[in-house]
Amino acid sequence: MTDGERQLIDAARERLGPKAVVTDPSEIEPWATDWRGRVHGATPAILSPASTEEVAEIVRLAAELRVPLVPQGGNTGMAAGATPPADGSALLLSMRRMNRIRSISAENRLGVAEAGVVLATLHNAAHEVGMRFPLTLGARGSCTIGGLTSTNAGGTQVLKFGTMRSLVAGVEAVLPDGSVHSGLSGLKKDNRGYSLDQLLIGAEGTLGVITAVALRLVPAVAARAVAWAAVDSPERALDLLRFLEARTTSVEGFELVPQDSLHLVLKHIPGTRAPLSGEHKWHVLVEATTADVDQDVGAEIERLLGAALQQGIIGDAVLAANEAQAEAFWKLRDTISEAERAEGQTLAHDISVAVADMPRFIVEASTAVERRFPGVVASGFGHLGDGNIHFHVRAAAHAAPDWYEREGKEITRFVDDLVTAAGGSISAEHGIGQLKRDEFARLAPAGRIHALRAIKQALDPLGIMNPGKLAP
Ligand SMILES: Cc1cc2nc3c(=O)[nH]c(=O)nc-3n(C[C@H](O)[C@H](O)[C@H](O)COP(=O)(O)OP(=O)(O)OC[C@H]3O[C@@H](n4cnc5c(N)ncnc54)[C@H](O)[C@@H]3O)c2cc1C
Repeated sequence: MTDGERQLIDAARERLGPKAVVTDPSEIEPWATDWRGRVHGATPAILSPASTEEVAEIVRLAAELRVPLVPQGGNTGMAAGATPPADGSALLLSMRRMNRIRSISAENRLGVAEAGVVLATLHNAAHEVGMRFPLTLGARGSCTIGGLTSTNAGGTQVLKFGTMRSLVAGVEAVLPDGSVHSGLSGLKKDNRGYSLDQLLIGAEGTLGVITAVALRLVPAVAARAVAWAAVDSPERALDLLRFLEARTTSVEGFELVPQDSLHLVLKHIPGTRAPLSGEHKWHVLVEATTADVDQDVGAEIERLLGAALQQGIIGDAVLAANEAQAEAFWKLRDTISEAERAEGQTLAHDISVAVADMPRFIVEASTAVERRFPGVVASGFGHLGDGNIHFHVRAAAHAAPDWYEREGKEITRFVDDLVTAAGGSISAEHGIGQLKRDEFARLAPAGRIHALRAIKQALDPLGIMNPGKLAP
């Protein structure tokens, strides 16, 4: 531990109280390891401030003592952005005690939540006032508003409501010099030059610590319809999406599932069963909602799927008969990664290309990867309508236990090259963190990297905010 770290820990104990400072290695360990358990960091302490003023004091002192801080929410991020460096040279700044919902207003269609509020808590609070925060994802029981904002998270409803960037109306944050940026007014129009709020969204904790966020709400869901459809190819899946979008505005979730992924889920996840009989090459999960109590969204989707069937766009379809069945359909989608892990070693790539190019990309990239690395199984599933899929490469059945370590890098480089050649992004919704930093540096245009570094240097000249993440 450095002198600076010791001084900061002592000052934090005095200022925040002993309970807000954790130094017991066994308590620290789970928070110093990333969610996937692949990256192990180390830190002498976790500091947990409970107010914006406390965060500002800690950051000011950290700057003075030159001690780097790693902001952390639920630690569910997929790019190890919240994992401290392995040499113990930074302290973790946990935002989980800043967990108040400061206000929630149906009239303004806005909620102001502190950074440590868990997504599911916000969902419930919005529901209580007849509203809804329309972003959701598998980690909703533990990920926080600060983490979601800092990674510009997406999820399964982006098709209709966009990523966090479209749902954040303002940000309050402590900047690296300890000053507070207050952007929570919720103004719909504000053209006073550069938007600090927008810079902080997706900054992965490298430009400051987000302490609270103003979030856009929409009317609560009155009814939803969840359907499962079989298609011959990703191309047909996209045809179905376009067919539906031309006829209704109620579709908000559209997830592609290959047969191989469904097989793994049925094999490894207890209590799951295929929604349709027979073998189908590809599947689509469709979710449609309405806020209008008089609209029969189920009947509408059933009619449209019937028409799609008649036109030969889909091979079969079934509408969930009730909420339990709807949840069972979603479980098939949400447990794909878990099933893959149960099957063996898997390399995950969260990538995007233009929506219209995605069907061809999935097919061609899978073929290219399987040809180049014999024995592996490549498949793409997820948010087809956003041009974002999780492109996973599974090891051959009898691969060596160190396959991931030995071959992972080369396979990922191959996939990233394919994505870049297709004009896409090597990180669609998970961020760069530390896992994708080298690839980002290798593949991003020079101008982009230059601008990123210049912004980082301007706002954090001492380099105390989340070092070693995002900016190469
Ligand atoms: C099961 C599962 C499903 C998921 N599904 C999706 C999905 O569909 N779509 C998607 O986009 N993502 C998904 N994710 C990942 C998603 O990015 C994270 O769940 C979430 O955005 C991170 O929130 P967190 O509070 O856990 O942040 P953490 O993991 O703690 O941190 C993530 C990053 O944000 C920074 N950070 C955290 N809090 C702050 C703050 N207050 N101020 C400044 N910086 C901060 C950290 O330093 C780090 O760089 C999934 C994760 C899991 C485990």
